[in-house]
Amino acid sequence: MTNPINGRPPEAVYIHIPFCTNKCFYCDFNSYVLKDQPVMDYLRALDREMELTVKHTPPGVIKTIFVGGGTPTVLKPDEMAYFLKSVRTHFPQWDENIEFSMEANPGTTDKDKLAVMKEGGVNRVSFGVQAFQNELLSGIGRIHNVDDVYRSLENARSVGLHNLSVDLMFGLPNQTVDMLRESIGKALELNLPHYSIYSLKVEENTLFHTLFNKNKLPLPSEEDELEMYLLLMSTMEAAGYGQYEISNFAKPGMESRHNITYWRNEDYYGLGAGAHGYVKRQRHMNIKGVNPYIEASHSGLPRLDTFQITEQEAMEDFMMVGLRMREGVSDQAFRAQFGKSLLDIFAGSLKKMLAAGLIEQDGDTYRLSKQGILFGNDVFGEFVGVLTEV
Ligand code: SF4
Repeated sequence: MTNPINGRPPEAVYIHIPFCTNKCFYCDFNSYVLKDQPVMDYLRALDREMELTVKHTPPGVIKTIFVGGGTPTVLKPDEMAYFLKSVRTHFPQWDENIEFSMEANPGTTDKDKLAVMKEGGVNRVSFGVQAFQNELLSGIGRIHNVDDVYRSLENARSVGLHNLSVDLMFGLPNQTVDMLRESIGKALELNLPHYSIYSLKVEENTLFHTLFNKNKLPLPSEEDELEMYLLLMSTMEAAGYGQYEISNFAKPGMESRHNITYWRNEDYYGLGAGAHGYVKRQRHMNIKGVNPYIEASHSGLPRLDTFQITEQEAMEDFMMVGLRMREGVSDQAFRAQFGKSLLDIFAGSLKKMLAAGLIEQDGDTYRLSKQGILFGNDVFGEFVGVLTEV
């Protein structure tokens, strides 16, 4: 994607649909309960943002599009068709192997809608499944049950969508190691090309945060949570899925190319309420609320903030996001973005992390060791604020 060296336009697009049927108890994403929301007005505002964006930074050939949320699949089939047509109009040139992903919730994906999605170019669907126990699902505020999961996947396959992914969560209230083992087993029986498995984070401004503060959130112990992470990594590996990022597992060649854009610190357009984008070392954040976003889109780009990233910040970001990937960071890629060697900048931190056994080296590439995966945040922190030492 674009970097100051090759000057190519962004080849990745993120679009945010901020509506959900209800609000899950742990969720701090920019999402709003759908009822009474001005959905068509929002989609028209998005259309305007796309139009202005490509006028400002014309796109090249687009390699990945990711529609996230929120729950993009709460759009009705006619709204979905309008939205996908907008995308195609403003980003008309697609790579022949484009990865066009959309997030979906089981229970919001009937066949008609999935057919409209496929017709509009979507070729990868990521389902928020989270767990295979109905009592856990209702305990975290999800609207779907386990039967919905099977039905949604069957619907997707029946319209010809086969590049499917499932999200699972661990560290949930009342979840045991055995429950996670069962969820992973059931997820693997689906024989999908890709799985994402995240740990629950108790975020501020969520119901879970309130319960946590009142000591009323029965989270698994730290030991159980560690056991869960070790279990999921070994089970996925044994089933033939590569852990290509801390929380992501794929059959060879089925890694999410869109997410790899972020982890390689490459450029992407970010469109929609609250969306972030990164183009030519400039980051932006859009206005978050639905109505304020719509309002702002009438008079220009609906930005909350835009700021230039210094070279130092870009280098630190490169390390922090790059080390999330199992392939790690290479001197070659660093030189391509910054025209300098990794060792010129980060020799001290690399040496320290190698000595601690948290990073391993393979030629000009550095990656988290097995032990380092468990202490990712500590490792990433080592690469922040080091330029003053150089
Ligand atoms: S479906 Fe996803 S975005 Fe919507 S409330 Fe639940 S976790 Fe948040």
